[in-house]
Formats: sequence, structure tokens, C-alpha cells
Amino acid sequence: MIRAIYPGSFDPVTYGHLDVIKRAAKMFDEITVCVLDNKAKTPLFSADERVKMLQDVTSDMPNVRVDSFSGLLIDYAARTGAHVSIRGLRAVTDFEYELQIAQTNKQLSHGSLDTVFLATSHEYSYLSSSAVKEIATFGGDISECVPDHIRKLVEEKYAYEHQ
Ligand code: ADP
Repeated sequence: MIRAIYPGSFDPVTYGHLDVIKRAAKMFDEITVCVLDNKAKTPLFSADERVKMLQDVTSDMPNVRVDSFSGLLIDYAARTGAHVSIRGLRAVTDFEYELQIAQTNKQLSHGSLDTVFLATSHEYSYLSSSAVKEIATFGGDISECVPDHIRKLVEEKYAYEHQ
């Protein structure tokens, strides 16, 4: 049984994240999407809200569960028996940062936690949670970026509804 974790902020979850989750769910026996609860940051959605949103959009995927964590990913992975961390790569700009995190996790976990990178599907390569928030700040249309249910929650946060 290969258990993988997919850590991230997911603030909010986008079609890009969902694509990674769907593809990873076909490769591994069990995926846990882990919402990073970073007390030093002020996210748009609380960790509980992000967990709930992810649970809603993955409810049709039987081998996907959602959890939140704070602290070191390697500690969370050791606690839950996961040996693979999944990360998505959109562009070269992601690569340097992601490589450093992957190597740090491998080193700190004494080789126990490895990282598997999934290249973005080209239709989502431009998508990030930050871009979604930036578009929403100006009342723009985010319907091509996030599922409809998530779009409504984002619009509520920014108190607008796209016509
Ligand atoms: P972001 O704010 O950039 O979406 P997250 O921390 O929520 O950041 O992302 C979690 C993981 O998902 C990261 O490995 C990130 O590279 C990956 N990811 C985010 N968006 C996409 C996308 N459109 N395609 C592929 N991977 C993605």
C-alpha cells in the first residue's frame, strides 16, 4: 500500500490542484491532501474552511482524504506513514523552490520522504491560488479557475458576484 501526501496552502483550491489530485489518485493507493496551517500567515480562508472546501470537491474520489497540519511536513508524514510527497510543477520558476524543498525533506527525513513531481496539464499552467485572489480582488471572473461552489465562497469573501 503506497500512501502519498499532497501538501499545500490551497487558499483556495483551484482546477490546477484538482487536476494534480485526480492524476495522483490513479497512481497511489491513498492520497491525503494536507492543508498547511501556517500561523505566521493570514490566509483568505481558515484551515478548517480549506479542509471543508477540499472535502467537497474530492467527495467523489474514494482514495482521497483531507487533513490539515502545522509544523514540519516530515513529522506529519512519519506520523501518518506516508513516504511520498506530491508536488505540482507549473513552470521553471517553480522548479528551483520545489527542488530545494524536496531535497530538504529527503535529508531531514533520512531518506524516508521522497517527492514526486507532476507536471501541470497545460490548460492549468497559468493557474495559482494567488492569481485567483488577485482576479477576485478586482471583481473579475474566476469561473474558469475554480469549481462553481468554490467560486461562490471566494466571491462572498470579496463581497461581489460576477455577472
Ligand atoms: P499556489 O498558491 O501556487 O496554488 P499551493 O501551496 O496551494 O500554491 O500549491 C500546492 C502545490 O500544488 C504546489 O506544489 C504547486 O506547485 C501545485 N500547484 C498549484 N497550482 C498548480 C497547477 N495549476 N498545476 C500544477 N500544480 C499546481
